[in-house]
This record gives sequence, C-alpha cells and structure tokens, in this order.
Amino acid sequence: MRIVLVGPPGAGKGTQAALLAKNLGIPHISTGDLFRANISQGTELGRRAQEYMRAGDLVPDEITIGMAKDRMEQPDAASGWLLDGFPRNLAQAEALDELLRDAGQALDSVLDLEVPEDEVVKRIAGRRMCRNDSAHIFHVEYTPPKEPGVCDTCGGELYQRDDDREETVRRRLEVYHSETEPIIDYYKSQGLVTTISALGPVADVTQRALTALKG
Ligand code: AMP
Repeated sequence: MRIVLVGPPGAGKGTQAALLAKNLGIPHISTGDLFRANISQGTELGRRAQEYMRAGDLVPDEITIGMAKDRMEQPDAASGWLLDGFPRNLAQAEALDELLRDAGQALDSVLDLEVPEDEVVKRIAGRRMCRNDSAHIFHVEYTPPKEPGVCDTCGGELYQRDDDREETVRRRLEVYHSETEPIIDYYKSQGLVTTISALGPVADVTQRALTALKG
C-alpha cells in the first residue's frame, strides 16, 4: 500500500503513522524524522535544513524532494510506504506523482487527520519526544510517561522539540494552511482523500484510520 498522511502539526501524524505502518507492514517515512536524524548526525543536509525548521518554515523543495526520493527508493520501500509529512506543498505533490508515474505505481489513499486548532496548540505545547526513537511520543498531560522526562518504552531521555515552542507553532500552522492544505484539494480531485477525526484516545484514532484504509 502507498499512503500519504496529512494533517496539521499536532494532529498526531507521527504517533499514528508509526502504529499504522506497523499494522500494515510497510515502512513509515517521515521527512521531519529524516531531517532531525541529519541534524543530529551533523550532515550538510541537516545543517541546511535546520534554520528553516527552527523558524517553522518549509525546508526548500530542492533539498526535501531529493531526500524523500532517496528514502522511497530503498529496498524496504519497494512494495509500499506510509508517508508522514511529505508532500507538504503542491510542488512536492506533483514531484511525488511524477516519481510514481515513472515507477508505474500509484497512491492508494490519502488519510487526512482532522483536529480543531485550539486542540493542536495544547497537544504541541505538552508534546515530549524520546531521543532514541521518534515513534516514542508522550504528552505531559494526555499520555504522561510513568517517570517525568523518561521514555516508558526504552528509558530514553524525553525532550521538547525545538520547533514546538509557541511562536514557531503559530508559524507552522500558517504554513500548513497556506502551503499544505491545498494538496488536500489536489488529492480530492483524484478521489483519494478520506478525512477522519484525530480526537480521542490514540487507539481509537488508529482503529478509525485502519477502517478508512481497508474499507
Ligand atoms: P514534522 O516532523 O513533520 O513536523 O516536520 C518538522 C519540520 O521539518 C517542518 O516544520 C519543516 O520545517 C521540515 N519538514 C518536514 N517535512 C517537510 C517537507 N515535506 N517539506 C519541507 N519541510 C519539511
């Protein structure tokens, strides 16, 4: 299966993508995670991406599209993937279409996670990530770790993402509305979009998503 996950920052894309990918037996490809890995490894690509991420802006397409393409061409992605955070604008959606066309492949589904804006801000402000694994995500109030600052799953250190500060979150939301939302209409015109509510317990949202994808 080839699936694109869209939704505003804080909709729970990372959490749901990890669970759905595991359930469906396909790799979870997150361009945000790829950028963060490059930053922590000190690569040139990471150095170039960092300033845009800090500001809450999109990393330029000429960096992002090549990186996403390289990842999608890895052997584990040959029979499908779940994309989280890519494409994020129309140019990237068109680049993905071209890539798929060249490979004789097609998207199966675009899953749109819907969440009200005031909820988004609360979710991001309390979000804490594990340094060892970006799939281990907590929230100080909604899904707190047993011991503050420590990952329940692996004991790793929990931290707040640099771009989860309030000012940057506002900018990320603006960017979402102006750059990313148009891709939902683009995919709607291809009949690919299913919108589900991202509210409620994590497991309920996963079930809703699986029903939508398999239905
Ligand atoms: P995420 O982890 O998906 O919230 O992404 C974190 C940040 O990485 C975003 O705010 C952007 O600065 C950058 N980023 C991730 N994916 C993309 C993309 N497809 N295009 C441009 N920038 C991206």
